[in-house]
Amino acid sequence: MAQRILVVEDEDALCTLLEYNLQAAGFEPIIVRDGDEALLHLREDVPALIILDWMLPGTSGIEICRQTRARAETRAVPIIMLTARGEEADRIRGLDTGADDYVTKPFSVSELIARVRANLRRSGAGTEVLQAGDIVMDLETHRVHRGEREIHLGPTEFRLLECLMRRPGRVYSREQLLDIVWGRDVYVEARTVDVHIGRLRKALNGKRDTDPLRTVRATGYAFDETYK
Ligand code: CA
Repeated sequence: MAQRILVVEDEDALCTLLEYNLQAAGFEPIIVRDGDEALLHLREDVPALIILDWMLPGTSGIEICRQTRARAETRAVPIIMLTARGEEADRIRGLDTGADDYVTKPFSVSELIARVRANLRRSGAGTEVLQAGDIVMDLETHRVHRGEREIHLGPTEFRLLECLMRRPGRVYSREQLLDIVWGRDVYVEARTVDVHIGRLRKALNGKRDTDPLRTVRATGYAFDETYK
């Protein structure tokens, strides 16, 4: 199945060029021409990567970038910003806001396609499987296995585990987990995180005494790579 690339760009000639070349490179391009439409689209569908113009009618590129990073579903989607020449300050702001890469207009299409591939590789998209110890998460089919056993997780526990497994060893505070898993715009108490970690533990461990989730006192949680 071709990976979907969302192109948010208001110049018709550039849209045509990108659509043609992305298709030729084996991707499925989705072209939207203004910022509001891009946000609506992202509510319905999570693409493999976003090519995002800076100056757009409707919601700006930087705001789309910010909202994409704030939502759990789209947090990990790589974003390549398109900027006009000389907008150095904008470029830095774009990277600060969470863009992964930027390309200055005018650009060579083959270079942009190469960047698309490089960013997809870096993000692990295309494989969509996380593995640590005896736990395997398939992000495409939403199936989780520990050893031979399939683990059934609720959507929140699934996102929690995904977040922790993407960076094994890294300690996340409850507040960081709330931002990443629940989203910044939602108000949830910090102890809710503990409740869901408890459920995740129960589902993952069953009767085993090896627990891959490490509680860091007064701080938060981490996925412990050395749990076996
Ligand atoms: Ca533009």
